[in-house]
Amino acid sequence: MEEKLFEKSPDMEERIKYLAEKEEQTLIRIRRELHKVPETGVYLPKTYEIIRRELQKIPGVEVIEHAAEGYGLIGIMRGKLSDGKTVLLRADIDALPVEEPEGLPYRSEHPGCMHACGHDGHAAWLIGAARILSDIRDNWGGCVKFVFQPGEEVGKGATALIEKDQVLENPKVDMAFAAHGWPSVESGKIGIARRYAFGCVGGFSIKIMGKKGHASWPEETVDPIAAAIEIYQHMPSVLTKKISGTEAKVFSVTYMQAGDVKIHNVIPETCEFGGTMRAANMDVLKRMGKELEKEVRAVCHVAGAEYKADIRIHGGAVHNAVDLLEGTEKTAKGILGEDKVYFIEHDHLGGENFSEFSSRVPAVYLFIGIRPKEKEQIPGLHSAEYRFDDHVLKGAAGVFAALGYYGCMGILQKQEKGTGTEEWKK
Ligand SMILES: [Zn+2]
Ligand SMILES: [Zn+2]
Repeated sequence: MEEKLFEKSPDMEERIKYLAEKEEQTLIRIRRELHKVPETGVYLPKTYEIIRRELQKIPGVEVIEHAAEGYGLIGIMRGKLSDGKTVLLRADIDALPVEEPEGLPYRSEHPGCMHACGHDGHAAWLIGAARILSDIRDNWGGCVKFVFQPGEEVGKGATALIEKDQVLENPKVDMAFAAHGWPSVESGKIGIARRYAFGCVGGFSIKIMGKKGHASWPEETVDPIAAAIEIYQHMPSVLTKKISGTEAKVFSVTYMQAGDVKIHNVIPETCEFGGTMRAANMDVLKRMGKELEKEVRAVCHVAGAEYKADIRIHGGAVHNAVDLLEGTEKTAKGILGEDKVYFIEHDHLGGENFSEFSSRVPAVYLFIGIRPKEKEQIPGLHSAEYRFDDHVLKGAAGVFAALGYYGCMGILQKQEKGTGTEEWKK
């Protein structure tokens, strides 16, 4: 399309805020209905059915069913003006294998399963954005794709949506947005990472094969536990001596297994350990993997042990697109208020497979505050005590709707002087 000058529209912001307010009770109801039936991984029949039912109610949405090889959904909505850009808005919808304690009237009905990462809220606010954008369809052109992704917690869903469902094509997506309810950000506010919203993710599984024998004569054995511990102790120096100190990076060993609790006099044959490795930068993560394997090889060589090392890269970082940052900030401020949106300057190394989207199209990831103002701290993501704050649904829905609106109208992205986002400076 031809680039045009669009003006930021205070009237439209007021209208979106009014509609978001009107939707609040509906969104709370949907969120709680989803909360009752949490499902993990990619098999989410009940969650799927609720979202499908809600999308079908919205005028102007074409629903693509059975996306992501089963239980994902894509809602496609076109504005009524003649042309515009294509914006993808994504929510993850899966839950976790966590037992929810008693207390809430809408507590999980599925034993051992809970929406402990708040993806029930993500699905609800995205449905809210679709309802709002449907109401104002006369006022925008272009296309918004509402993407409901299963399997985020297990690193699945995104690739199938992109490769099988071709969600980034027809029409071609110009920009993408996603968000997470974030316990360290106050309710009613939004944090936007200046650089990386999430880090690159990798993992390692190491098996050391020694030589078992009587614990009284260790000299006749090759002790795999000793070798594993030596590698473990060297891991911090891999990070500090082999890679620049200015790079964000971490190794965490999350399991180590050897021997048998009932046997106290035998040095075992094998010791296995593994965990996660993260870095803000993909080259750094790859280097960490190589250096770790070198360390394993060297220690095992000296010990006389054999080893198997499975070191993998799982996904890239979620990098916020520089040319969308300012527009996103102003859009969110227009809905929530000038003092409610801020940039987060330091990176963190959590993982999110929204990276599959953000590595292919310009994207921004938002951290939606869910910590009630009166509380200094709330239980973190994945904790059984985690609580989503329903008060934030309308604001998040409004921000997503406004991102869809301004994104389609072509003024979110920074462009050459004289076009588009020069308007933001007013
Ligand atoms: Zn999670
Ligand atoms: Zn999550």
